[in-house]
Amino acid sequence: MQQKYDVIIVGAGPAGIICAYLLNNKGLRIAIIEKASFPKDKTCGDALSLDVLNQLKIINPILAQEFELITEKIPSYGIKIVSPAGHVIEMPIYSDDNQKKCGYVCKRIVFDQFLYEQLKNNSEVDFYFDTTVEDVNCTFKSATVQTSKGTFDAQIVIGADGAHSIVKKKMIDKTIEKNHYSAGLRQYFKNVAHFNSENFIELYFFKEILPGYLWVFPLPNNEANVGIGILSSTISKKHLNLKKIFQQLINEHPLLKDRFKDAIPMENIKGYGLPLGSKKNKISGNRFLLLGDAASLIDPFSGEGIGNAIRSGRIAADVIISAFSKNNFSASFLHAYDKEIYRKMWPEFFISRKMQKLSCYARAFDFIGRKVEKSNYLKTFMQDTLTNVHKKKILIGPKFLFHLFLKK
Ligand SMILES: Cc1cc2nc3c(=O)[nH]c(=O)nc-3n(C[C@H](O)[C@H](O)[C@H](O)COP(=O)(O)OP(=O)(O)OC[C@H]3O[C@@H](n4cnc5c(N)ncnc54)[C@H](O)[C@@H]3O)c2cc1C
Repeated sequence: MQQKYDVIIVGAGPAGIICAYLLNNKGLRIAIIEKASFPKDKTCGDALSLDVLNQLKIINPILAQEFELITEKIPSYGIKIVSPAGHVIEMPIYSDDNQKKCGYVCKRIVFDQFLYEQLKNNSEVDFYFDTTVEDVNCTFKSATVQTSKGTFDAQIVIGADGAHSIVKKKMIDKTIEKNHYSAGLRQYFKNVAHFNSENFIELYFFKEILPGYLWVFPLPNNEANVGIGILSSTISKKHLNLKKIFQQLINEHPLLKDRFKDAIPMENIKGYGLPLGSKKNKISGNRFLLLGDAASLIDPFSGEGIGNAIRSGRIAADVIISAFSKNNFSASFLHAYDKEIYRKMWPEFFISRKMQKLSCYARAFDFIGRKVEKSNYLKTFMQDTLTNVHKKKILIGPKFLFHLFLKK
């Protein structure tokens, strides 16, 4: 017998869980279909920016309070950026009203479990774990999802199934545009030496891996998340072996080798894709929406995607509620979702794409690094841009360029 639901959400990552959280107890029959089971890992840098924390607060202040109670996370009060020639920019995080702020580094196995538990309590959502979606068919009249454990019917299907989304493959296309996609590797270590006392996350823009970077993020219990991400078109063009470069850099680079001398890998190197938001895509159609990585909403410069995955879950929930109230699941009605996503996210993606392109030029990067290292104005300005999208726009404006090029 086929199972019937109002909403079927494919994938229980941050995007899918938050969407379900906001649709819960609204009189809709909701199912989440997830191929893994909790607790589940996701290959990620595990950095939770201020944006993620703000999103949780907006969704429900209790979510943010409960998150603060998690002990398996480390507060990080800033970012250390190292330019190709080794110029170091250290930027503490401050809020608009000059309060010292922190993001967190929290393993995804912990963070995703936290989100799932917040949804599970008082939830009317049905969970299907260890169940893989194999086919999806959404038309003007119906939506059907074929899984490893049977067929499901729904009014609307939500593709929150990450970078390798089956919903995107079946309902839009299978193409990966390598110019708008990065490949990433992650390895957990113990005993990486010499973290900054305020647990700054560290991004190394080595010239071998531009546009991209190697990261070293501190974790509780003397552990670290270490990884590398590079634009896929560059990997193909230069025939790069990512794993080899990663190991060479941590074992041989003068800035890292001493820090990794006594470091112990805790797992084999893991890889995964990062679909970037550097291009606008079609992310909805008759009876379906794509969320988070399935919709390619990762910041093209920083590689952050958790905040936007959550934001897309919020926007999708609003559109879904409105679709049920109007009983309209047509592509033209659901296009409001695409519009709202890009209204909120495109300004930042646009600037990040420019920064990603600029970062290809090692010399330009070093020039900026050298200037920022010496100028308090530029340093403060760069700090501000971390938390303020509007200030990022000034990055390519005249005041910034004046300080960059003309001030000694
Ligand atoms: C190496 C790397 C480092 C990163 N570092 C950071 C970082 O430090 N900070 C940051 O903000 N972002 C980072 N990101 C991006 C971040 O991981 C993603 O943007 C985020 O996980 C997107 O959330 P999501 O809910 O859209 O997808 P996911 O978290 O990928 O969740 C998708 C879910 O769908 C399930 N699924 C997939 N296919 C099926 C199927 N066929 N049937 C059923 N279920 C299915 C999966 O099991 C998974 O649970 C990184 C990404 C990579 C690859």
